[in-house]
Amino acid sequence: MIWNENAECMGREEKEEMQLALFQQQVKRVYENVPFYKKKFDDAGFHPDDLKTLEDVNKIPFTTKDDLRQAYPFGLFAVSEDDIVEIHSTSGTTGTPVVSGYTQKDIDIWGECTARAIAMADGGKHSKIHNSYGYGLFTGGFGIDHGAKAMGATVIPMSSGNTARQLKIMEDFQSDILTCTPSYAMYLAESLEKEGFGPDEISLHAGIFGAEMWTEEMRQSLESKLGITAHNIYGLTEIIGPGVATECKEQCGLHIQEDHFFAEIIDPKTLENLEDGETGELVLTTLTREGMPVIRFRTKDVTALRREKCDCGRTTVRMDRITGRTDDMLKIKGVMVYPSQIEAAILQIEGLTANYQIHVSRPKTLDEIEVKVETSPEVFSDEMKKIEEFERRIARKIQSAIGISVDVTLVEPESLPRSEGKAIRVIDERNFD
Ligand code: ZN
Repeated sequence: MIWNENAECMGREEKEEMQLALFQQQVKRVYENVPFYKKKFDDAGFHPDDLKTLEDVNKIPFTTKDDLRQAYPFGLFAVSEDDIVEIHSTSGTTGTPVVSGYTQKDIDIWGECTARAIAMADGGKHSKIHNSYGYGLFTGGFGIDHGAKAMGATVIPMSSGNTARQLKIMEDFQSDILTCTPSYAMYLAESLEKEGFGPDEISLHAGIFGAEMWTEEMRQSLESKLGITAHNIYGLTEIIGPGVATECKEQCGLHIQEDHFFAEIIDPKTLENLEDGETGELVLTTLTREGMPVIRFRTKDVTALRREKCDCGRTTVRMDRITGRTDDMLKIKGVMVYPSQIEAAILQIEGLTANYQIHVSRPKTLDEIEVKVETSPEVFSDEMKKIEEFERRIARKIQSAIGISVDVTLVEPESLPRSEGKAIRVIDERNFD
């Protein structure tokens, strides 16, 4: 089902006309109401009247995460604090948190976007949405909640944690759409498996997973374990939260809600706009948001845009699944390498875990790259000769994914260092001085 056919299936010309009008209105609004933007535009020699066509968008300066941090907590609000009805925030684990304020209209827009997402997963009034995204300052729980309510579905506000209770409620209430991070979905799937529940005993038919990077292999695994169609959802607190873009059943990219968000791809080094199909950094503008409009926000997420026709009938531009963060990008032997490419290659091989560590060094004049991968306990007990063969096979797989040769070392399960429960992915020992 298409939730909002008018918006989601609009012709390109009409849509671009609408986007331009909204964009013009938005830059004017922030110029008049947010001193940060007035200064930023003035410094760059840009005036809202300079925006005459969508091609002029590249005259507008970018907004970065650091800009948003410096505005902590409410420096970017474009309305009076009295008009803000909800606040969310990033966790701030990597620095000052970013705060996001919403007016009632913003909440309605957000709910509209996540309702479209739920409809893409075949949800509707009849659905029981098992919402295991965290409720709180994190946008996941409330974002899905607003959408479920906007469409009149039943939302089961589970939040995350207490797995035994999650499974019991899922069974007793006959939940049919699961919403959470893909890693939590995997944890739930494995717990169900342990309890003896196969895909046929679970009433779920779809999952909407996001808020972290995941691979196609992980999708296939979740779909078979839970007997669902797994949809990728994308969003970020800085822009609104989940629902900026979601995959339809065709699973060929995430449809961006273009009547609310304007998407561009730039080269993170030169900052030039890239063409459709070219991979680079996603830049987003909120076209309709009132509380905290964000103009040309550099997401640091790496993807590409596609405008070919989608079989679902929606005409909105699609973005590829996020394949990396510009922060994580490594340049090795002159080639751009994302740890996620290496992860995807590793996950295609049976007997390996997703715990790996990439060591980049330059012992003489050439970069060397070694990937340490934790095996499953069964594999590690095998004889040495087999291990070496296995290492070479993994190295070939990674080389075909990233285009440069690597050394692979298998290490014991649980032996790679972890920080706050997460493995440390990259150690770059090169000295660039
Ligand atoms: Zn589609």
